[in-house]
Amino acid sequence: MPKTSKRNRKSTTATSVDLSEDSEFDTSATILRVNSRQVLDSRGNPTVETDIWLRGGATGRGTVPSGASTGVHEALELRDEKRSVYGGKGVLKAVANVNKQIGPKLLGRSTLEQEALDILMLKLDGTRNKSNLGANAILSVSMAVARAAAASRSVPLYKYLIKRKKYRLPIPMMNVINGGKHAGNNLAIQEFLIEPIGAKTYVEGLRLGVEVYHALKNILKEKYGNSSTNVGDEGGYAPPLEKTTDALDAILLAIKNAGYDESQIKLGLDAASSSFYDPKTLLYQIDGRSMSSTELADYYDSLVTAYPILTLEDPFSEDAFEDHAKMTAKLGKSVKIIGDDLYVTNPERIRKGIELKATNAVLIKLNQIGSVSETLEAIKLSKDARMAVAVSHRSGETEDTFISHLATAVESHFIKAGAPARGERTAKYNELIRISEELGHEASYAGSNFA
Ligand code: PEP
Ligand code: MG
Repeated sequence: MPKTSKRNRKSTTATSVDLSEDSEFDTSATILRVNSRQVLDSRGNPTVETDIWLRGGATGRGTVPSGASTGVHEALELRDEKRSVYGGKGVLKAVANVNKQIGPKLLGRSTLEQEALDILMLKLDGTRNKSNLGANAILSVSMAVARAAAASRSVPLYKYLIKRKKYRLPIPMMNVINGGKHAGNNLAIQEFLIEPIGAKTYVEGLRLGVEVYHALKNILKEKYGNSSTNVGDEGGYAPPLEKTTDALDAILLAIKNAGYDESQIKLGLDAASSSFYDPKTLLYQIDGRSMSSTELADYYDSLVTAYPILTLEDPFSEDAFEDHAKMTAKLGKSVKIIGDDLYVTNPERIRKGIELKATNAVLIKLNQIGSVSETLEAIKLSKDARMAVAVSHRSGETEDTFISHLATAVESHFIKAGAPARGERTAKYNELIRISEELGHEASYAGSNFA
């Protein structure tokens, strides 16, 4: 991404380069028109989409995703709350905020000034959690600005965001069994992921994952009946299982049946444990048991010993920094403990996590914080602290492929985009296939970091 103009020289990305030396005088990236609309996400809920037109003819679009197991510390997703329309989930207020308040302030400004424009929107909003204009309103514009700027420079988005000689493509973390708030079964754990580290390229890694996903379908069908292969919000199967180990056993068998082993494909869990934590009793309800945080830690320990688990996301509730830190100290050598609801892509909370050594990895979701610049800052902070980075989708997604470019630009270790099925998920994986083709030999694969 070009450094901001003389008006605002502070840059969030040390590796960013100036693609347009004379951007001060080049008006092709100047914003002519901003238009936002309400469209649908993958759950059939309304979401915000914004288009930006530039003087030079380039355009850019940003369509915002939406979570289900949202962290309480996330920036606010503005909904209309009018029960009779879309069950209260309409986003026409956020759309109006873009069209009437944000858009007019951006006209005549250069999209090459990503950070300055993001700051302008944060100031216009004036709240800590973007509750005035809505993080969904602000993010749609922020993403569209980056997209339009890249188009104005005739470069792919990832190259615009961060220019490198060579890029490393992420390991796809594919969510093959859905539970928690993403499925109607009794699994407390929200996501059971496969992570093909033992491939040479991203494209090969994706293939391994797809083959396991299909092998798993046969196993579930045989063992639990046809309806067990109905899928959850992120395209993973949602079988009527009760226990975490039932799901892990089925996946291990699928890896074997597909012809692979545990050195090639690792497992990941996103516990999203705030969704089965009771702050009144301080207990977690999982696998038919009530567990204290100490008992839960021991349970995770036993799972990590018995299964080839590489990543464990949100093992404890969203404010339990100390519990996370104990787990990271104990298991951090072999397991990536990922903070999602714990950090909500918020640089302030990530700083606290780094200080407390709470985790050794971070999940990054653009809409948790609500602007591209703050997301890049969160990633830079995490990378500087040597944390592994996983760029992530939301359970409510759209056809937007911004995260594929973001993951490539920042060389994240992982991209989490759901199962390799359903259009809004494959959109992300397929965009990485295109990026991989374009980069050819200039692209390495993050798998070798863990193999
Ligand atoms: C997650 O928890 O990592 C996730 C993708 O789910 P959601 O979007 O529902 O927060
Ligand atoms: Mg999560």
